[in-house]
Amino acid sequence: MALLETQGLAAFYGDFQALFGVDIALESGETLAIIGANGAGKSTLMRSISGMLANEAHQVRFEGRAIGALSAPEVMALGIAMVPEGRKLFPSLSVEENLLIGKYGRAARGAWSLETVYDLFPILKERRNSPGTALSGGQQQMVAIGRALMSNPKVLLCDELSLGLAPVVIRDIYAAFPKIRAEGASIVIVEQDIGQALKVVDRLYCMMEGRVTLTGTPATVSRAEIHSAYFGAH
Ligand code: ATP
Repeated sequence: MALLETQGLAAFYGDFQALFGVDIALESGETLAIIGANGAGKSTLMRSISGMLANEAHQVRFEGRAIGALSAPEVMALGIAMVPEGRKLFPSLSVEENLLIGKYGRAARGAWSLETVYDLFPILKERRNSPGTALSGGQQQMVAIGRALMSNPKVLLCDELSLGLAPVVIRDIYAAFPKIRAEGASIVIVEQDIGQALKVVDRLYCMMEGRVTLTGTPATVSRAEIHSAYFGAH
């Protein structure tokens, strides 16, 4: 049984259908990438899993339980934490206060605490009293990841980590993933920019127009296959 899976997942914004029968499975301990162009449905998939968008209960399962109809706080309490697109920090709160907010979701015992998040991203310790607004984009992304880790999640969902960041900063952020994974979290990384993501994941799913168009491992799918799954074979 997969740790987390979607089966025939459909999603709607009013009358507009954004997902058409999406099947993905995340095994325990695995790191997955969901890749695809702007508008492919990646964020909608993350919102559907995290409870931000309501779905049919049975279309999303976590540890065998149907969770598609649960609210975002209920999903978080089960151990699924989200690093949202755009980071969504509280701008007037300090780095440390933003991190502590993450603790209230599940607050399960586990490896992650202020201390271990600061070990993961030492720059955040230096900037612990700075307000969110005073941070660079990369530092804000580190806070968003740290905040999600503070709940000691079983599953970490990361939406568009690379967006707007310089390549060197993206590399620093991705360097944290082997450590996060070593602490036992299973991870889903959504990206348009696949360069770094494909170096750290076990498998990938490519989406286009609300459907999965390709799945495989970074070692077995070719760039040409990704290109046609990403943009369509024109
Ligand atoms: P991006 O990289 O831009 O986040 P994405 O692959 O995550 O792209 P989604 O944001 O999931 O794609 O969007 C999938 C489809 O749903 C698109 O056609 C988009 O226009 C539409 N959509 C997304 N959010 C909404 C919304 N709040 N209301 C209506 N339509 C939406």
